[in-house]
Amino acid sequence: MARKRIPVSGPSITQLEVDCVAEAAREAWYENHNRYHVRFEEAFAEYLGVRHAMALPSCTSAIHLSLLALGVGPGDEVVVPDVTWIASAAPVTYVGATPVFADIDASTWCMSAASLEACITPRTRAAIPVDLYGGVPDWDALRAVSKRRGVAIIEDAAEAVGSEYRGRKAGTFGETGVFSFHGSKTLTTGEGGLLATDRTDLYERAAVLRDHGRPPGDRAFYNTEVAHKYKMSALQAALGWAQLQRIEELVARKRKIFGWYREELGVVPGVTLNAEPPGTKNSYWMVTVVVDSACGVMKGELIARLDAAGIDCRPFFHPLSSLPAYAGLPHAADARRRNTVGYRVSRAAVNLPSGLNLTRDDVAYVAASLKKALSRTVEK
Ligand SMILES: *Cc1c(COP(=O)(O)O)cnc(C)c1O
Repeated sequence: MARKRIPVSGPSITQLEVDCVAEAAREAWYENHNRYHVRFEEAFAEYLGVRHAMALPSCTSAIHLSLLALGVGPGDEVVVPDVTWIASAAPVTYVGATPVFADIDASTWCMSAASLEACITPRTRAAIPVDLYGGVPDWDALRAVSKRRGVAIIEDAAEAVGSEYRGRKAGTFGETGVFSFHGSKTLTTGEGGLLATDRTDLYERAAVLRDHGRPPGDRAFYNTEVAHKYKMSALQAALGWAQLQRIEELVARKRKIFGWYREELGVVPGVTLNAEPPGTKNSYWMVTVVVDSACGVMKGELIARLDAAGIDCRPFFHPLSSLPAYAGLPHAADARRRNTVGYRVSRAAVNLPSGLNLTRDDVAYVAASLKKALSRTVEK
């Protein structure tokens, strides 16, 4: 019998999630229309240990609202890691500001304090460090630069629910922290996102901006400004609450999957896996291999070989400064010259299947296929 294709990512959904969504479909109307949002937001704020959590339709909207609430706008610069999903950077353009792409650290694959500092100019208002693939940067060092240089931090924790730095949860290291609940992420609501913050002023400003310029609870339909409509549905909130009840299990499963890969690939020469520096906890959203350039294989070729074996992988994010989307950005040329680590790491790196339904046997097969794909390169 042919092996089923192994998908690159996907959630774990149980009867609890199905029951909660069915209940919301029946109950989340009339006087209960807000019940499931409140439940999800309160539980998420408690999980993180922050004052406020706002459920949103996406992480992209959470970054957009964070920038607007901080007052970032035309003429301002915002430092974003060069190697991340474009959603980390796109909202900078939405508000009329300019993204400046910082290099990543060779080990954590996240923005380093030095790379942030190298990008700061008198126009810099904010930085959006990313907890890439569930790994965390050196937050103490980044926060020290942020404080000293007066640069606000928005933490993009889209990929890092359950990760920790010195015992503190990812998503709590900036003025705001943002999460994604896209179907590929560790905790999912189908599509969805969340803005977390301890700052009541930012939370209240975001609440107006996300509802067409009216304060929460407004019954007068009297808008004070033209703004946005960014709301999660009650059905999604119910799904998110159910997933959050299982968060320890979901993160433990991700860590177990990574452990299996480490057993299989930990000592393969020329292959580097996700890092977990001392004092941190990686929730391993995507198990990732960086292949040494001596192996002579690029990510496209590696993905094609694994695809032929029935395995879905993803390329490590391409540097944003290399994408057609940013071809017209004057800063991108500087980034292409400066960000040697990001360009080197990204060239020969792939995300391996990391879905929550993955089995030990799947991991053994993926690892064996990867080793075969790499040995073919060495032979020729
Ligand atoms: C998934 C992701 C986002 C965007 O999340 P959406 O919910 O799709 O808007 C942002 N940043 C990073 C790093 C992501 O991986």
